[in-house]
Amino acid sequence: MDRRAFLRRAGRATVGLGATALIGATTACAHAGPVTAGSGGPPNWKALARSLTGSLVLPGTASYPGAALLYNQAQVTHPAAIASCATPTDVQRCVVFARDHGLPLAARSGGHSYGGYSSCRGLVIDVSPLHGVTAGRAGPDSPTGTAVVGAGAKLVDIYSRLGAEGVLLPGGSCPTVGIAGLALGGGIGVFGRAYGLTCDAIASLQMVTADGTLRTCAPGQQADLFWASQGGGGGNFGVVTSFTFNVQPIPEVNLFTLAWPWGAAAGVLDAWLAFTMTAPDELWSNCQFLSTGRPGTGQVKVTGVFAGTTATCAGALAPLLGAVGAVPSYRFVGPEDFLRAMLIEAGCEGKTVAECHLTSQTPAGTLARSPFAAKSSFVNSPMGAAGTAAVVAAVERLATEVPGAGGGIVFDGYGGAINRVAPADTAFVHRRAIACAQYSVSYATAPPTPSASVAAHAWLAQTQQVFAPHAQGSYQNYIDPTQSDWARAYYGSNLPRLVEIKRRHDPTDLFNFAQSIPLSA
Ligand SMILES: Cc1cc2nc3c(=O)[nH]c(=O)nc-3n(C[C@H](O)[C@H](O)[C@H](O)COP(=O)(O)OP(=O)(O)OC[C@H]3O[C@@H](n4cnc5c(N)ncnc54)[C@H](O)[C@@H]3O)c2cc1C
Repeated sequence: MDRRAFLRRAGRATVGLGATALIGATTACAHAGPVTAGSGGPPNWKALARSLTGSLVLPGTASYPGAALLYNQAQVTHPAAIASCATPTDVQRCVVFARDHGLPLAARSGGHSYGGYSSCRGLVIDVSPLHGVTAGRAGPDSPTGTAVVGAGAKLVDIYSRLGAEGVLLPGGSCPTVGIAGLALGGGIGVFGRAYGLTCDAIASLQMVTADGTLRTCAPGQQADLFWASQGGGGGNFGVVTSFTFNVQPIPEVNLFTLAWPWGAAAGVLDAWLAFTMTAPDELWSNCQFLSTGRPGTGQVKVTGVFAGTTATCAGALAPLLGAVGAVPSYRFVGPEDFLRAMLIEAGCEGKTVAECHLTSQTPAGTLARSPFAAKSSFVNSPMGAAGTAAVVAAVERLATEVPGAGGGIVFDGYGGAINRVAPADTAFVHRRAIACAQYSVSYATAPPTPSASVAAHAWLAQTQQVFAPHAQGSYQNYIDPTQSDWARAYYGSNLPRLVEIKRRHDPTDLFNFAQSIPLSA
């Protein structure tokens, strides 16, 4: 089910919380060479605008208020300019312009950064127009085929366009998340246990680095940047303009949902944590504990996707049902067409692909942005009776502690193909986790009132303590401005190598934000 639905206390499940400009070919030379631009001094925005194939949006213009919006309505920012980049050369010009004028800069793809880190006081480099999606042929290096995806493509468009070619890219459930932020920080989704994280599917990518050079990064070419791009987090090393992904043939797809009375909640979590460690790779699920808005109660369900037949799916779920013991209050297992399944997971059941976009991003879009705050913990071991009871109690307290808010705790299953990658093989270090627990609060108003914000952060911090004995690290894609010791929480033992790569490729810290990889550990 999708995080959007989770945030609204409705709908099915949640991974996480829950235009066709064709990109320059990835076969381009490894070094396209720096572009030349400004010579310092106050920014000459008119000159930058003239140099771009895309457009430059400045404060005071009619399109600025809409162009400045981010998904999280709790994050309001006022950039000096927003460059809508239509070509990799546009991106190069913007990077050089920001560098030469000493301006803060931030790359933006889908604008879903929890912390609002795809905006800044300076120049926002929006890659949305670079949203081409082209499926390629299978070859010796990629027996299941490849796809070239522009860095500004949104997930729903990728699923739709690749689905029409009979292939899929494992990615997240939220339809409007941008591929760049998702893939650079990991990317967990309903096919994650079967095919791995989105970052694991990257075959190569093109990135404009701090010197303004457009580089191709692949295992044998700029290998350190390639490694860092597989989970090292968006916005740290350069601006990606396109990815080549390894894709998978679409399997038979079944959806399932199981729900129990709230009295069974602790037992469901205990059983699900054990189940998810032993479930077949084809089965991905999450376990949700959602506030109903009434103190002392909640909703508990397990939902997911099975890459196989209905009968095999039902058989694979039997151990979970047996271990919980309590009779489910709702039980559904059924086959679904791939694209319809992805729309359902996205909370877009009954909508067209065009409608399954944000109203703020496309004219046909019907989806709203959301005001929220969240934290996460990677759970590495069963939580025991005290731990599961504490999770249930935290959800029951939410309605009292943050009146009027929605939210709860969602556990996304890891394991399978995700955990067969060693922690140091990519920058995504969390390869020993059973699950990632995300706890979130969806505010009643946008922006949230100061008292709601204080109360939400207090609940989130308390909830993090519930996980402390059983967890290690937090998910860099659920980037959390209040996370303590965040660099170690996101990158663990991979942090020293990321710091070294940052020093080598961005020695002046051009790509800097509150939680960017530092120049020293
Ligand atoms: C509603 C919702 C649902 C979600 N569901 C999932 C899910 O199912 N699975 C999952 O794993 N995650 C999920 N996430 C988290 C999501 O993966 C992250 O928020 C991700 O960073 C968003 O990417 P974006 O491109 O949309 O965001 P942006 O805000 O545009 O970017 C995020 C970060 O990446 C950087 N960045 C953006 N574009 C580029 C670029 N071209 N080159 C380099 N850096 C760039 C930005 O500067 C920023 O630091 C969800 C988030 C939300 C809000």
